[in-house]
Amino acid sequence: MYKNKLDTDVQFLPGVGPKRASLLRSELEVSTVGDLLHVYPFRYIDRSSIQRIADVRGENAFVQILARVVSSELTGKGLKRLSVIVQDDSGQMELVFFKGIKYTYDRLKVGSVFLFFGKPSVFNGRMNMVHPEIDNPPSGNAQGFSGVLTGVYNSTDRLRNGGVTNKVLNKLMAEAIDMAIGDVEETLPEYVMKEKGLVPLKYAIRNIHFPVDSTALSKAQYRLKWEELFLLQLSLLKQKYIRSRASRGIMMEKVGPAFHACFNSLPYDLTGAQKRVIKEIRADLMSGSQMNRLLQGDVGSGKTMVAVLTSLIAVGNGCQACIMAPTEVLARQHFINISRYLAPTGVRCELLTGSTTRAERKPIHEGLKDGSVGIIIGTHALIEEDVEFRSLGLAVIDEQHRFGVEQRSRLWAKGAGGIPPHILVMTATPIPRTLAMTLYGDLDVSVIDEMPPGRKPVKTLCIGEGKRPELYNFMKRQISFGRQVFIVYPLIFESEKVDYQNLEKGVEDIIAHFPESTYKVAVVHGQQTSEVKKFNMDAFASGRAQILVSTTVIEVGVDVPNASVMVIESAERFGLAQLHQLRGRVGRGSEESFCVLMHGNKVSKESRRRLDLMCATENGFDLAEEDMKMRGPGDLEGTAQSGLPVSLNIASLAKDGQILSDARSYAGKVLADDPTLEMEINRTLASEMRKDKYDVRDFSKIS
Ligand code: ADP
Ligand code: MG
Repeated sequence: MYKNKLDTDVQFLPGVGPKRASLLRSELEVSTVGDLLHVYPFRYIDRSSIQRIADVRGENAFVQILARVVSSELTGKGLKRLSVIVQDDSGQMELVFFKGIKYTYDRLKVGSVFLFFGKPSVFNGRMNMVHPEIDNPPSGNAQGFSGVLTGVYNSTDRLRNGGVTNKVLNKLMAEAIDMAIGDVEETLPEYVMKEKGLVPLKYAIRNIHFPVDSTALSKAQYRLKWEELFLLQLSLLKQKYIRSRASRGIMMEKVGPAFHACFNSLPYDLTGAQKRVIKEIRADLMSGSQMNRLLQGDVGSGKTMVAVLTSLIAVGNGCQACIMAPTEVLARQHFINISRYLAPTGVRCELLTGSTTRAERKPIHEGLKDGSVGIIIGTHALIEEDVEFRSLGLAVIDEQHRFGVEQRSRLWAKGAGGIPPHILVMTATPIPRTLAMTLYGDLDVSVIDEMPPGRKPVKTLCIGEGKRPELYNFMKRQISFGRQVFIVYPLIFESEKVDYQNLEKGVEDIIAHFPESTYKVAVVHGQQTSEVKKFNMDAFASGRAQILVSTTVIEVGVDVPNASVMVIESAERFGLAQLHQLRGRVGRGSEESFCVLMHGNKVSKESRRRLDLMCATENGFDLAEEDMKMRGPGDLEGTAQSGLPVSLNIASLAKDGQILSDARSYAGKVLADDPTLEMEINRTLASEMRKDKYDVRDFSKIS
């Protein structure tokens, strides 16, 4: 038999067998009894609290009623709706089922009594519950049901159809605990549990499944969340430590004359946040290790200046710098802006993109090779082809998530003297702190949390189709003041064609209302050649066109300070981060700016909340926090592609920020005393770190 009972194949657990075992494997990724014990309830039903039907209100989140079935019939078109009327002493309520109708119909026999648990709602003036959970009335003697709180496990249709209901899961958990709890080994060192006041793992597992009371449940949850976040942070910080010891970095001790020349001719003072970030970067450049820094800052917070000054430090130390943008439009824009800043420095700066001609390329390639080009700005073209640097010392990557792993490793290989260049990744997608700590656990993070002075807030309003005439009048007024207007259409990748049609219809409508004799409208979308795109963008950037209609290609970076109105069509289809990015396109000049969120007739509750939030705040970090709370960290824009390093089983980055901070700083403390976890007291931690899920993953490659 199995030496450790936790390793027992789950099919040998009483009540399982081969068929259920295969279900558990495919639906819950459970193969052993130990795996099963780590499937935790996501919610608990308080068996002690039963509402009277007469007291149930539509606003109640969840209610539990104990009621007798009065009638049960199939209704609706094609008889696809099962309507069950139940009653208790106080009144009646309808229960509605659209799925599993036959099974439910057979089970809910008229006259029998059940516990129903669900979310009440008001439909046609009557209270009902759709798909409530159904349980037999509490009897107190069923195995594992002695506690007041009963766990509810995530389930799937396949599990339920295969007979693995929540009740069965509860029974299996009780069996699993009976069989194997004795073999659960403590994962945290004694001293950690003592200092942090954590309950033992055995206690936690027992009580997460079958809490003796709500206090025991809280203790169990806290222990398991803390441990999960702690081990994750420990693995991240450990990798960071190993990397910083192993990676040599180009030493950049000086600042250099070019830096000073640029700095002294700036038309403004740097903000406090910009100064602080440059200091942080300087410290990295002088540390002897390779810099791997993520720079977060809202749109318009002045990241470009930081990139320029950092590049000039590289130049001042005899190195070259490259600045990479995700799109050609952006690269060009960077080039124009940055060339201006560089004018007083005499540093040669060039632009290299997919559309640079061969004739133009030749001198640039030579300049990179002989070192006469100090700063090169471009797109992927910079690393995709055979570009040779004399001494690349710094790579600035704008908008990290669009660069792939392979491209980055090619970049690393271009470092001066075989030493990888310092890396500065800039993103305007604010990421909540807890997420940044985890996603970029082994990167250093700098934040520009202060806007340059003089920026006026962008007035944001949300309107429906009915107000379009007013919107057009408003736009005309703004244009008559000499302002320009962006109109953006959503891009939904499933159907590029439909998106494009949307945009075309919109353009027709605009042209109909803004006659060509008076107004010029530029159109930019992803299906145009880069030449056409550039021509149309230029028309808008130079002020020849007053209106720019586009898909989200303008999302990042485009800088037209004279544009004061951003109209976002079908705004309900955008995520918060994207809406925020788009809004950041206006409010760059000295004029009062506006963001108009146009929405369709049908707006879901969640979309509505997003739009309301946009109207309520302009702070990107606040929006990101809210976004994470609403959607969970996995779906946040900018993070979905890179993914979380380890999937979390019980803790939530959105809700457990406090625990995360505590666990992270404690992990730092543990490593400060024992960086390689070799001490006897940390033996269990070292063995946890050897598990597959903490397998060293090179996070520097996320950027
Ligand atoms: P980001 O790249 O962070 O979105 P930019 O670097 O494009 O922002 O800066 C936005 C605008 O603010 C630019 O026009 C830039 O010239 C200006 N700017 C940057 N730093 C300052 C500052 N310290 N004071 C005033 N204006 C600034
Ligand atoms: Mg920028």
